[in-house]
Amino acid sequence: MNIQPTVSSPEANPETGWFPISIRLSGARVLLVGGGEIAVNKGRLLLDHGARIDILAEDLHPVVQGWIDEGRAYHVGGRADDTALRSYLPGCRLVYAATDNRDINRRVASLADELNIPVCAVDDPQPSSFITPAQVRRGMVRVAVSTGGAAPVLARRLREQIETLLPDGTGRLAAYMQSRRALVSGRYPAVQDRKRIWESFLDGPGAEAARAGDESRSDVFLGALLDADRKPGEVWLVGAGPGDPDLLTLKALHLMQNADSVLYDNLLSPALLDMVRRDAELVFVGKQRNRHALPQEEINREMVRRAQAGERVLRLKGGDPFIFGRGGEEIEALVEAGVSFRLVPGISAANGCAAYSGIPLTHRDCAQACLFVTGHAKADGVLDLPWDDMADRRQTVVIYMGISTLPQLAAGLLAKGLPIDWPVAIVERGTQPTQRVLTGTLSSIAQQAAEAQVKSPALVIVGQVVRHRVISP
Ligand code: SAH
Repeated sequence: MNIQPTVSSPEANPETGWFPISIRLSGARVLLVGGGEIAVNKGRLLLDHGARIDILAEDLHPVVQGWIDEGRAYHVGGRADDTALRSYLPGCRLVYAATDNRDINRRVASLADELNIPVCAVDDPQPSSFITPAQVRRGMVRVAVSTGGAAPVLARRLREQIETLLPDGTGRLAAYMQSRRALVSGRYPAVQDRKRIWESFLDGPGAEAARAGDESRSDVFLGALLDADRKPGEVWLVGAGPGDPDLLTLKALHLMQNADSVLYDNLLSPALLDMVRRDAELVFVGKQRNRHALPQEEINREMVRRAQAGERVLRLKGGDPFIFGRGGEEIEALVEAGVSFRLVPGISAANGCAAYSGIPLTHRDCAQACLFVTGHAKADGVLDLPWDDMADRRQTVVIYMGISTLPQLAAGLLAKGLPIDWPVAIVERGTQPTQRVLTGTLSSIAQQAAEAQVKSPALVIVGQVVRHRVISP
């Protein structure tokens, strides 16, 4: 194994410089420098994974001595000086510098690095070329949590949380699936088909039986799946919310992790796309005013084509699919083509922006209703809106897609008799880390938005509720 030393050092990109891999240790030689408490911890882990440990240490903890006496580890030398290290490093798959002396650990790290041998200086990520993640184990299933050495305590906390999530029988389930792999690939040589079988298996009662150790019952369910005809494709029309991934519904998340392909909008934040299954095909079909990536009819055709080819197509939309999301048109096209579909609502921009900016949408004192309108102008530039309804003072008006037409919108409302100091807020990139909130009045807001260079996506909230804005102390 050859790991380039520091071509792209962790320091160069502290967030992404640590690449998690699973390395085979069974039968491999690992050099453990140090023989005290720290070495005991690491040594245990290494022995658990079948490594052949060479120990370089002067003083040996009784546990370490025990391993040596039992022939599970070899005491190759005492002092970890350069000469000793140079003779024991070559041929090691990994090195742990696990003494309680940081200088010695760093010297070990630097010599190992010269030889391109992956080295971990315990509790000292800086000179290390690998670090040991916290692990959750269920048989052959391993979930590793790493914070890139930034916050080991956090990693351990997360591990505890994951511990509670992974059922006990997960290891048995993995072992069962491994033992039936050849059978399934024999019947279904195409990768896509195999995946589908296994996913249906995991969603069904067969998986529960395997967790419980009842393999013959699992076989019944797996057999039924193998004999069934190829499942037809399907379209899932899913609202992904306004941007914060924590606002996804559990159902949306589940479908995002099971889709074969994902047709997504430009409203989708990268943080959301990150949660889609890695090997799903991502297809950008986003629309932006005057910059159509794909016309609506083509999006419809693409969904139908893929579903008819057997894919589970996820049509992922910003916010809620049925609020200014053309969800209606898309399902009409699916119905026409006889493609089955599922619909999952999402948190719309109005809800997300209201909550994350502290502006209620209704209020007992001043807003008994809430109106959602689009500020999107028709091709001829005309805003075709229910102006009289919008000028009602006892309500909140939420305007989607209203940034480019903001001057016309404000002028229109003033012309209908709303006062010049009538409150308005703009929430730009609501619920996202870069959210901005601007507050002003009907007479000032267009100018403010221009000065602040507000860009889409942004939501305009008009009404007295803006005065009731609350920010957490
Ligand atoms: N279906 C979506 C709306 C699509 S229309 C929903 O339910 O939210 C696109 C408009 O939604 C944008 O022009 C903007 O006005 C609004 N929008 C969407 N996401 C937003 C966000 N994170 N912050 C502010 N406005 C947003």
